[in-house]
Amino acid sequence: MQRIKKGDTVQVISGNEIGARGEVEKVLRGWQVSSDRQRVSRDPNKDRLVVRGVNVRKKHQRPTGQTRTQTGIIDVEVPIHISNVMLVCPSCDEAARVGFKLEEDKKVRFCKRCGANIDKVS
Ligand SMILES: [Zn+2]
Repeated sequence: MQRIKKGDTVQVISGNEIGARGEVEKVLRGWQVSSDRQRVSRDPNKDRLVVRGVNVRKKHQRPTGQTRTQTGIIDVEVPIHISNVMLVCPSCDEAARVGFKLEEDKKVRFCKRCGANIDKVS
């Protein structure tokens, strides 16, 4: 089960944007195909997140064709590695480590700082 999901608020814990917070817009999970192409396994070293307003770079977008409407210099969020962020607990509003527990036969995440559930049991 994923530690961080789309829609979560995370806080940056390393790099030059340390302390910045934003909502997870996209979770990019790393996948690896074995040499015989029969098995696909997940490579956690490639798990990355797109976080709104974090790691924004200016990108020069040239007008190419008719599909791209935005041209000139645009802002794009560069994905950051999952290990560089911590989940912000919605209950105590602190960057917290996440634990997992079973509740009504469902695996839910909880905040190791205040103990509150992060996922709803319903
Ligand atoms: Zn908490």
